Amino acid sequence: MSDFDDLIARIKSCTLCSLSEKRTQVVPGEGSPEAEIMFVGEGPGFYEDRDGRPFIGPAGKFLDELLDSIGLRRETVYITNMVKCRPPNNRDPLPGEVSACRPYLDSQIEMISPKIIVTLGRHSFTKFFPSQTLTKARGQSQQWSNLTIYPIYHPAAALHNPRLRSVILEDFRRLPDLVKAATQMPIEPAAVPTRQLSLFE
Ligand code: URA
Repeated sequence: MSDFDDLIARIKSCTLCSLSEKRTQVVPGEGSPEAEIMFVGEGPGFYEDRDGRPFIGPAGKFLDELLDSIGLRRETVYITNMVKCRPPNNRDPLPGEVSACRPYLDSQIEMISPKIIVTLGRHSFTKFFPSQTLTKARGQSQQWSNLTIYPIYHPAAALHNPRLRSVILEDFRRLPDLVKAATQMPIEPAAVPTRQLSLFE
């Protein structure tokens, strides 16, 4: 078993917080462990909890459309969430739940070593930049350690407010160039991962 498979197995059997008591399935994440682009949402909803896969409900359908709009397929990126179990009634994850789950996301980031992390919505954005607001920061990439972080609105926001659809589509359109730029950025020797070919070359 690879280290990454071992991590996923540990996530699947986690009982560190009370979200584990009500879950149907854990939703560790999905995609390529060698992805250059990682998407981080908030937490599983009804459909994700039922099937054990991230972003497969209505917000996920829009995410698929967004990926499609720039010629990406789910299998070539990695999609995960801040918390891996569904908060009851889709409430916001509590700070204790986020911190219990944090080591799993940190390990996923470390092992995948993506070039860019697209944070979907406020919760994953504040993991990296707790003192900023998403409304001001969205659509602009920022460096965080060796990583480029690209904050955008959560796809579900467009379901509640259709005017945000074009904003999110527009932010997505910039992603290929940002990946290219991040791929060309020098990185510290200790963090040099074995990479697949760039998705946009
Ligand atoms: N919303 C999220 O933040 N994550 C999912 O997996 C689904 C909906």
